[in-house]
Amino acid sequence: MPWIDKELCTGCGICIDECPVDTIVLVGDEAEIEMDGCIRCAICHDVCPLDAIKHDSEKVDEWIEEKVRGAVRNRELCEKLSGNPRDGKDSLERTIKSYKRDVFILQKAIEKLEDLFKTL
Ligand code: SF4
Ligand code: SF4
Repeated sequence: MPWIDKELCTGCGICIDECPVDTIVLVGDEAEIEMDGCIRCAICHDVCPLDAIKHDSEKVDEWIEEKVRGAVRNRELCEKLSGNPRDGKDSLERTIKSYKRDVFILQKAIEKLEDLFKTL
């Protein structure tokens, strides 16, 4: 999904005018993308004069770190609440299982979409 670098956006409004599904809004002085409506057409990337609209691939490292931080925080909280290190370890195990399930679901969705892509 596209995202807007707030440091670069001046709120000029060009992307808002050009988005075909009106899913970019101005919040204060900055543009913001309402992700649910985005159809990934990439028009906004092309029209921003300041290159403020970025691709999600530019956030991958940050997202990985967020996931790891969240899981570690949950493990620590579980251990603190129960006073038993085993509960923290169980929490971490559940998170790992949950992420593996997400990977499985996404992999299957990718395979179906690739099959669809071949028919186009
Ligand atoms: S076109 Fe670029 S600078 Fe202008 S509002 Fe959109 S993101 Fe911000
Ligand atoms: S990718 Fe297309 S639909 Fe999504 S915010 Fe940009 S212009 Fe709008």
